[in-house]
Amino acid sequence: MDNRRRTLLFVAPAVALGLAVGRDAMAQAKLTESDPTAAALGYKEDASKVDTNKFKNIVKGSNCSNCNFYQGAATAPSAPCTALGGKLAMGKGWCAAWVKKV
Ligand code: SF4
Repeated sequence: MDNRRRTLLFVAPAVALGLAVGRDAMAQAKLTESDPTAAALGYKEDASKVDTNKFKNIVKGSNCSNCNFYQGAATAPSAPCTALGGKLAMGKGWCAAWVKKV
């Protein structure tokens, strides 16, 4: 076996593994309040901290865990939010894109 072929046999799986790990890490990125889109939507990790003067239409009792974009069980502490790039939103969080889970 020549050296190039041997190198390819060892490097290719490592690159594939690295890409898979990187993709998983991106999918599990935490949604932060400073994320530009989240900030524009008034996202807070704790719905009780939402600026209700600015977001007057907040539905009482609404939070990420009962939002249609929340991709986890209602009891999950955090789960991907499909409205915000699949980043992990806190179950107790809230943003102005909230839509009642159906
Ligand atoms: S869209 Fe829903 S799940 Fe996503 S951050 Fe806003 S309230 Fe939370």
